[in-house]
Amino acid sequence: MNPQLPHHYREILLGLGENPEREGLLDTPKRAAKAMQYLCHGYQQSLEEIVNGALFASDNDEMVIVKDIELYSLCEHHLLPFIGKAHVAYIPTGKVLGLSKVARIVDMFARRLQIQENLTKQIADAIQSVTNAAGVAVVIEAKHMCMMMRGVEKQNSVMSSSVMLGAFRESCNTRHEFLQLIRSK
Ligand SMILES: [Zn+2]
Repeated sequence: MNPQLPHHYREILLGLGENPEREGLLDTPKRAAKAMQYLCHGYQQSLEEIVNGALFASDNDEMVIVKDIELYSLCEHHLLPFIGKAHVAYIPTGKVLGLSKVARIVDMFARRLQIQENLTKQIADAIQSVTNAAGVAVVIEAKHMCMMMRGVEKQNSVMSSSVMLGAFRESCNTRHEFLQLIRSK
């Protein structure tokens, strides 16, 4: 862990008017620093390392879809969580990605400071560059603590963002099929 981080958290406690010497807070700067570093561990990862050769030859050219991938991220404006689901689809052109890798790619970008729109795009671009797919679609639906706990305090609003590349952008039918599939339970 970066040794400066606990020190900064201690300063934050002081700045909030707390007493970092009281019993309940004694180890908080260290714990908070550790937690925050975990929540941002995506910075230590790279696409190459995550994919790690798990690309397999396949003559399947039908849509591959992974839906309801749990997503935990932090908004870069408030450092507060946003939590939801990602749905990812691609149309292979000779190569398919190991199943768990899609979820790990989502996680790598989610575990950084983000805004939802950029996160959606980064996932789509990464899947595209790794698989050279004929098309990639990513939809994220998430609840933002910065909206729910402060500001407008809208408890039930879900933000939805999508990025469509290639066939998903060009073909209404393909896009429609994907949207149908992620909506069916
Ligand atoms: Zn925010």
